[in-house]
Amino acid sequence: MKTMPCDLCSKPFTADTFDEWFKLMQTHYMEEHADFMEQAKNKTKEEGMQWMADMKAKFEAL
Ligand SMILES: [Zn+2]
Repeated sequence: MKTMPCDLCSKPFTADTFDEWFKLMQTHYMEEHADFMEQAKNKTKEEGMQWMADMKAKFEAL
């Protein structure tokens, strides 16, 4: 199990794999960072992909 905090509020989330961690984050984002989710809709796919890649790299490095 690995624990990595939310990149917005530092709340920790624990999961076995990045995919599991990302699922937890999606729920958390929708519940606590709805404003950020709204803004994220205006971002390009590339920016979203880059965020995913960065977060995955961080998770794998733990
Ligand atoms: Zn958060």
